[in-house]
Amino acid sequence: MTMKKMILAALATVALSTTAMAQNSNFDYSVDRFADIEVLRYQVPGFEDLSLQQKELVYYLTEAALNGRDILFDQNCKYNLMVRETLEDIYRNYKGDKNDKDYQAFIKYLKQVWFGNGIHHHYSMDKFIPEFSKAFFDKQFAALPGADQRAAEKKVLDRVIFDPAFMAKRVNQADGEDLILTSACNMYEGVTQQEVEDYYNNLKDTTDLTPISWGLNCKVVKRNGKIVEEPYKVGGLYSKAIEKIVYWLQKAATVAENEGQRAYINELIKFYQTGSLKTFDDYSIMWAEETKSDVDFINGFIESYGDPLGMTGSWEGMVNFKDKAASRRSKLISDNAQYFESNSPVDNRFKKKNVKGVSAKVITAAILAGDSYPSTPIGINLPNSNWIRAAHGSKSVSIDNITDAYNKVAAGTGFNEEFAYSNVEVELMKKYLDIADALHTDLHECLGHASGQLLPGVDQDALKAYGSSLEEGRADLFALYYLADPKLVELGIFPNMDTYKAEYYKYIMNGLMTQLTRIVPGKDIEEAHMRNRKFISEWCYQHGKKDNVIEYVKRDGKTYIRVNDYEKLRGLFAQLLAEVQRIKSEGDYEAGRQLVETYGVKVDPAIHKEVLARYEGLNIAPYKGFVNPIYTPVYDNNGKIIDVKVSYTEGYIDQMLRYGQDYSPLTH
Ligand code: ZN
Repeated sequence: MTMKKMILAALATVALSTTAMAQNSNFDYSVDRFADIEVLRYQVPGFEDLSLQQKELVYYLTEAALNGRDILFDQNCKYNLMVRETLEDIYRNYKGDKNDKDYQAFIKYLKQVWFGNGIHHHYSMDKFIPEFSKAFFDKQFAALPGADQRAAEKKVLDRVIFDPAFMAKRVNQADGEDLILTSACNMYEGVTQQEVEDYYNNLKDTTDLTPISWGLNCKVVKRNGKIVEEPYKVGGLYSKAIEKIVYWLQKAATVAENEGQRAYINELIKFYQTGSLKTFDDYSIMWAEETKSDVDFINGFIESYGDPLGMTGSWEGMVNFKDKAASRRSKLISDNAQYFESNSPVDNRFKKKNVKGVSAKVITAAILAGDSYPSTPIGINLPNSNWIRAAHGSKSVSIDNITDAYNKVAAGTGFNEEFAYSNVEVELMKKYLDIADALHTDLHECLGHASGQLLPGVDQDALKAYGSSLEEGRADLFALYYLADPKLVELGIFPNMDTYKAEYYKYIMNGLMTQLTRIVPGKDIEEAHMRNRKFISEWCYQHGKKDNVIEYVKRDGKTYIRVNDYEKLRGLFAQLLAEVQRIKSEGDYEAGRQLVETYGVKVDPAIHKEVLARYEGLNIAPYKGFVNPIYTPVYDNNGKIIDVKVSYTEGYIDQMLRYGQDYSPLTH
């Protein structure tokens, strides 16, 4: 090891431990537990060290974020707000026995609806089945003030809550079905999939090298026999919520950290006022290119997983600030972006000749909202528009205070001990999984999604319903391939060449077995990230069979995954990365469909059953999410903010009820 490398190694070690050190070690992460959910809270280390102006900015942006909550509820299903309001009314009005079985089941359902931002599970997209009786609901509804005038509404609610076949799935991805007609989400109404596809195919100009993100901010409906878009904007759909968001963004603009930031905040306001997707692209470019500010945010219609056709963005908000020490780690990665792009195993025609400004940083989340709340990602790479990423770069973040909370809670559950093949794998993961996982996220977000290019003329939506799985798979494969690159040890980020094995083992164990804990018996894999982990793991298992790279081993009636050859596994990742990049670059829909359908969807029922039984014995909630801290401004006598205090005292029910009261512009 040379001197320079040692310094880098030392830096990396310091950087990695900073987040942990700044946190309060007695912090109580657990908030609530129900159904398949555990609710946690997270710390916001470093908030106190922000300048007053930055704190004020964070405060205004959190208000802008929280005011979008109702939009997401309504996008997810048109009955969601009505259901939520009614359930909250019943909760407040209830005077009976709180130990009553029906009441307990009612509380569970209410908590699920809050967590799913509607009547469907946030991950499986299946409708929640209430465990309280219809008679209980009838009685509670009848006791509400004005109930006798709400007969029509009651009829709708009965069907929405109690008929399992009605609006059964929020986003249906089943091959061959009309994905719009069979999805309960509220992004289309009265139109078929074919009609919508025809509508957009007519609008799209395939020679346009800078296309807008069609359909991103609108509902598509039929009016007088004609297909029309109803944009989300001031004066359009969701106007009341968007006006509030704009109000707080305008305040934020007055305390922006610099002119670049002020300019993109104002551009976002303009987008909300006009609904123009061209303006949204202009905003996205300004946002992607502005990297000097510490405080940053997401606020808008962003990810399209909630739309079966992958076009309309679900409303999402997040406010964050840079974790300066930990950002050194991801900066090392992004400074070497061209090395990673140039040396990847994909065909040279699909590589970027010049990787444009992948700005990578580690951030501390200050508030989670909309599509990021309560369930939240640990890394984000935006904007999503392919041509903007290619021409103007993208911002990639790892959210370390969230990851840290997950890790703190996960340690000591006995999960790895139960599922890993032997003590060797358990020890590997104990020693290296924190850092290997962090790097996987960094590489996935700041290089994986940003890497590669489409061949000229290829439609960025060419992979249709398989686009999300394939894109997530591409980013994962890129990360997996480079985790085993000696470059990471050379840069001082990994201590040695065993580190990557912890992530490889976990990835394959998860993809082939343990992620099945999230699937109900008899169901296929549907969620995009789960499909990608499955198709990668399964493909590598099948294609590595002749060399026995990955093996299922039976011991004492339990099945384990054993990885026999980590280097060959890396070779398989490389091969598959090249193929997935080809599919994406050429827009080869059929090959993409085959790959996902063959390797990424079907579940072995025997393994599934076994995994569920073993998992149940551990008593762990498969899904986790977070409540937010509370930010309270302190004013002087002239009404000027002189400080912002952060507190972590609020429980799950209290927070949800407060949000339902104070941040509910579409219902109040
Ligand atoms: Zn991703």
